Amino acid sequence: MSTTSPAAVPVAVQLKGSLLPCGICGVSVSGPHLQRDVTELTISAVDHPRLGVRELTPQRSLAVTRCAPRRRRLERARAAVDAFGAFASRLGSRSFVVDRLEAVLAVEGVTGTAVGLSSPRDLSAALERLNVAGAAALWSTRFAPVQASDARVGVANAVPFAHVGDDLRQAARDGLAALLRSRLLRTGSVTIPAGPPADSARRGCLLCGIERSDVWEALTASTRSLGGRPSAEPIEGDICSVGSDVLADVGFVGQKAMKRALLSALGVAHSFATDAVEKTIRGWGSMPDGTPANRSPWAHLDLEAIRRDLREIAGVR
Ligand SMILES: [Zn+2]
Ligand SMILES: [Zn+2]
Repeated sequence: MSTTSPAAVPVAVQLKGSLLPCGICGVSVSGPHLQRDVTELTISAVDHPRLGVRELTPQRSLAVTRCAPRRRRLERARAAVDAFGAFASRLGSRSFVVDRLEAVLAVEGVTGTAVGLSSPRDLSAALERLNVAGAAALWSTRFAPVQASDARVGVANAVPFAHVGDDLRQAARDGLAALLRSRLLRTGSVTIPAGPPADSARRGCLLCGIERSDVWEALTASTRSLGGRPSAEPIEGDICSVGSDVLADVGFVGQKAMKRALLSALGVAHSFATDAVEKTIRGWGSMPDGTPANRSPWAHLDLEAIRRDLREIAGVR
């Protein structure tokens, strides 16, 4: 075999001495930031997908830091949150929103395409479309709370984001495409989030129940696929922009699509987390007639209980 073929370029390198991996892109970091910006991750379990089991291991910690380019992105995330403070505070605490934006900006590293954060609308669109792929692409997600079967402690990426597989790269590109599409829609004729079309039978999204969205798409679904009791009559109505993106991806209405939309609304990205929600999720469309539409997505569910379950299983906030 020729030693000059591109395949001979190493994907991973051993971490030497006191060097730490960047928790975002996974490269080995040296220099002044090394000790200043250290986060201790907790590894609670190891995945064995081939055996179909997740082995609980004694908790171990893994120190990660940030490389200089990722530090600059963190500063951008902070600056965006501070620039639109009143808006950002509606999304959650400052550190929570900064964390999520930092994950969103990881998509830049994966795709090589810049993500704009120059208006509140940019912020919410980027969080909506890129949050899941961004968080899944983080190096630290491969270790905490569950160590992926192919993730090894003590090695780093030879190039940033080398650990990101083809599926996830595609998901990141799809998220960016959706983001750009939503921007085009918004510049073509400014769409202001509004309720479902006037002739729609329901006043909220059949999935998340939200009362306003910039885009609505008609949907007919069985009560059963929406998590309700079987009934002869299907439910007709509309779904919001997030719901239609998720459905385009998953392909059909059901627990998988609803859990994915729910986790996205909760800002959860772990790849195993759709299984982690053990409860049967009910789409808003399967709730009794007269259930008011939601001001925030999935508010008809006991989100605190779901967060509690996720916290136990996955260390989610
Ligand atoms: Zn990095
Ligand atoms: Zn919805």
